[in-house]
Amino acid sequence: MAIDASALEPKIIARGKEFFQSIAGEAPSIFNKGWWTGKVMDWAMQNEDFKVQMFRFVDVLPYLTTSESLSRHIEEYFGDKDANIPDVLKWGAGKTGFGGGLVAMVLNKAIRSNIEGMARQFIIGEKASEAVKGIRQLRKDGFGFIIDLLGEAPLNEKECDEYYDGYMEILNAIQAECKKWDALDATGDLDWGTSPKVNVAVKPSAFFSQAKPVDLEGSVEGIYRRVEPIYRKIKEMGGFMCIDVEQLKYREMTIELYKRLRSAPEHRDYPHLGIVYQCYLKSTESDVAELLSWARKENLPISIRLVKGAYWDSETVLAKQNGWDIPVWTIKAESDMAHERISRMILQNHDICHFACASHNIRTISNVIETAKALNVPDSRYEFQVLYGMAEPVRKGLRNVAKRVRLYCPYGDLIPGMAYLVRRLLENTANESFLRQSFAEGAELERLLENPEATYKRELAAKKAPAGRKMGPAGYPVFTNEPGVDFTIPAARAGMKNALEKVRRDFGKTYPLIIGGKEVKTSDTLNSYNPANPSEIVGAVCQAGVKETQDALALARKAYLEWRDVEPLERAKVLFKAASIMRRDTYELSALQVLEVGKQWDQAYGDIGEAIDFLEYYGREMIRLGSPRRMGNAPGEMNQYFYQGKGVTAVIGPWNFPLAISAGMCAAAIVCGNAVVYKPSGLSSVVGYGLARIFKEAGLPDGVFSYLPGRGSVMGDALVEHPDVSVIAFTGSMEVGLRIQEKAAKVQPGQVQCKKVIAEMGGKNAIIIDDDADLDEAITGVLYSAFAFQGQKCSACSRVIVLDPIYDRFVSRLAEAAKSIKIGPSEDPSNAMGPVVDKAAQASIMKYVDLACSEGKVLVKRTDIPADGGCYVPLTIVENITKSMRIAQEEVFGPVLAIMRAKNIDEALDIANSTRFALTGAIYSRSPKHLEKARKEFRVGNLYLNKGSTGAMVERHAFGGFNMSGVGSKSGGPDYLLQFMDPRLVSENTIRRGFAPVEEGDDWVE
Ligand SMILES: Cc1cc2nc3c(=O)[nH]c(=O)nc-3n(C[C@H](O)[C@H](O)[C@H](O)COP(=O)(O)OP(=O)(O)OC[C@H]3O[C@@H](n4cnc5c(N)ncnc54)[C@H](O)[C@@H]3O)c2cc1C
Repeated sequence: MAIDASALEPKIIARGKEFFQSIAGEAPSIFNKGWWTGKVMDWAMQNEDFKVQMFRFVDVLPYLTTSESLSRHIEEYFGDKDANIPDVLKWGAGKTGFGGGLVAMVLNKAIRSNIEGMARQFIIGEKASEAVKGIRQLRKDGFGFIIDLLGEAPLNEKECDEYYDGYMEILNAIQAECKKWDALDATGDLDWGTSPKVNVAVKPSAFFSQAKPVDLEGSVEGIYRRVEPIYRKIKEMGGFMCIDVEQLKYREMTIELYKRLRSAPEHRDYPHLGIVYQCYLKSTESDVAELLSWARKENLPISIRLVKGAYWDSETVLAKQNGWDIPVWTIKAESDMAHERISRMILQNHDICHFACASHNIRTISNVIETAKALNVPDSRYEFQVLYGMAEPVRKGLRNVAKRVRLYCPYGDLIPGMAYLVRRLLENTANESFLRQSFAEGAELERLLENPEATYKRELAAKKAPAGRKMGPAGYPVFTNEPGVDFTIPAARAGMKNALEKVRRDFGKTYPLIIGGKEVKTSDTLNSYNPANPSEIVGAVCQAGVKETQDALALARKAYLEWRDVEPLERAKVLFKAASIMRRDTYELSALQVLEVGKQWDQAYGDIGEAIDFLEYYGREMIRLGSPRRMGNAPGEMNQYFYQGKGVTAVIGPWNFPLAISAGMCAAAIVCGNAVVYKPSGLSSVVGYGLARIFKEAGLPDGVFSYLPGRGSVMGDALVEHPDVSVIAFTGSMEVGLRIQEKAAKVQPGQVQCKKVIAEMGGKNAIIIDDDADLDEAITGVLYSAFAFQGQKCSACSRVIVLDPIYDRFVSRLAEAAKSIKIGPSEDPSNAMGPVVDKAAQASIMKYVDLACSEGKVLVKRTDIPADGGCYVPLTIVENITKSMRIAQEEVFGPVLAIMRAKNIDEALDIANSTRFALTGAIYSRSPKHLEKARKEFRVGNLYLNKGSTGAMVERHAFGGFNMSGVGSKSGGPDYLLQFMDPRLVSENTIRRGFAPVEEGDDWVE
């Protein structure tokens, strides 16, 4: 049924005004300045700095279990911001109050209880009995309820089981009680005559710790396994279940879960199952239309709760960080408009879809009321929902106008409750919040009730046009990182799947050497195999001997003499072309890594992105460095500083980032005007061949790049010791790196240049877990840093140093999480850990597993790994490790993690710095002082605060260590290229017979 929009609009405004009148003089308790919460909110809205500190403090509070840590954090968070602190906090932070004393204790207690009180305002109870009591009261006041168990994103399957048990507990408690409840505004057993009294919300991600977009099927199955019995129980109680929607990464699996549950043969006849849609997502309108047509096709009544969405900030930041299109609307009125459009669509389909409008915005609510009226939607087909503890006047007004109001009631522990509280505080204090504008700022009624289309037009006109991408030298846009893969997009998953099939079709080919642009076949070949199934030969790769090495070096020397004089911009263009070829072939290049070295899909895709970044970044860096720089401005003299490539560069690549690191080292050398002889690792030579193919297609002159796989024992020394080699760029183990340096230091007959060695070597990287660390984040970060790609990264975490007070909690959750990780071939995206790279690595890691188990106490040793001949090793975590033990000192390059205990932050830093490596490190802490201390004293090349130790990105995290972790400057950083060039200076006397031309920059002539 169509609607006359012009007739509807005045009715919406009138309805809104009437609504406001009916609650005149009332304000939500959260803004009541007579109370502590209201004061804090008021401060937060006036002072952004205080808001950040306050909300961060609320977030960390549940971890501050001792009086000492509470005092310390109050001082660290608020101590120096005297002017803007509410009195209650200022007293607590007073100089004399710290370090003990009765006064401090009393004040600290007050602060804690005030904040906990604020959290309780949004939570109906911490225990089932309290929740039931609260519900009873709400119903007495005439409101329905939705119960939601707090606790998000469990990290392991045990926590999912506990969460499931938590639901069963509250359901049992409600079941025992609900029979006694009279129906709201009706006789019989249903509220308002049509709605189940019991209404339950579930968050899908909380029911399966391994859910991830790349594995849609596995995720839906995992969630279904636990949600379905809960639904059955709710059905048995005659209740309603709504599947909440969380971050975008869970959207697709949530919709799929809903459809499966709704259409399951045993549940088809039960209509009381709902799903949430978020209007801030640009995709929601079509998603809702699709669900409605699905419902019609299946002939299944459905129910939708429409919200604007609770994760706007994080979705926006995440998309920007990853270079993705922003999935949410960016002008607030666009979300409001979407809510109005989608509400209408749902109400127009009221015969098949029950509607729950969840909003505190009186314009949004008035629109729904009037649209429903205009469409003659029966009352029983729609209702209103608001959050417990918020917007009391709105719920009261709704109760008067619409009757059918339900309160969404979180219940459970205060720890997840604090995270929920922070979300609510952010929502209420956001500039765009309707509640803030209406009840804290007293905005004009006309503006509050304005048609969002008008607001949108005005804001769009006032909005500055997007700046577009900034331009750099030579007309190229400034460098930005390649977007990461977004497996929420089905085409990305299909891209990988198809590419894996394609790569597999090419298995078994023979790959020649490429020397001076020509393919050279050798009788010696080396099979590169799939580590998940060593009987599968990815390719047979020809192996260079000493002769081929000498041939390649001779041709490289010749090519260098011409290439070094090619304009830097022209050299950079080859890199840009190579980057665009990699972009075109990303899926295939990624799939090859999955099969040749056993990388997980996202890891492999990330490697290609990094390779592209190196090409784009170094190209731009060369343009920057390529113009001669005038030195000084003495009159009559022109001094120019410029660079030339050093000569022939031997690049010896690793297998763990087979394209990225190789492409980075080769590209840097090439763009600086050197010729490269590239020896890939024997374990990833088919990937290496891809690099040769790409440079050729990009138009690099023959001879500037030769592809020279070969056995180190046969041709390694011939390459490193050759007198024509000027630079050796190496990434690999410390042992090989040191040997290369030793060999390179010896001057060979005929050698005219000192060899430059750039070597990125190993690490024994540590992550410190402070006693106030956010364990959800710390455990996720440690697991990823230690076990992604089986721990085979030089940046991988192999030591975790945990502060005593948090030790037991951290270790037990980490161990459970490690037990939940799925291990199997990386080709199957449901597996989070795969095989190690080959049989030799497997044997070497197994020795370290034994060593770890003998030196420490085993916490986890996953023996449930595929026993099908693949190169698997047990994921191993041991504790009771001290700093002198071998497992705390030697690099393993595999999934073996040592846990060490520290009394305090000083001891933790001392342990962290106690190896000869200095590559990466990380600390999880919410203490500003400890973070500052780590910044200064955690002596590694790359330190990460509150994030994992791996995943460095070109430019943003220019990468490399010192001590035994390497020599040379950071790759992907501003000094890297300088290592491949010799600086030259030419000084010209420009005075002839007393006449000196005026040069740009001269200041001697007025
Ligand atoms: C009963 C109930 C259940 C809920 N369940 C869920 C759920 O399952 N999943 C979920 O995500 N949320 C859920 N929410 C939270 C809900 O998304 C927020 O409370 C809601 O977005 C606030 O909207 P409003 O209409 O009350 O307020 P308003 O102040 O009108 O709207 C605020 C909202 O506008 C959007 N917004 C803010 N700034 C911008 C901008 N610059 N550009 C575009 N949009 C912007 C955001 O979504 C923000 O939350 C639920 C809320 C209720 C009441």
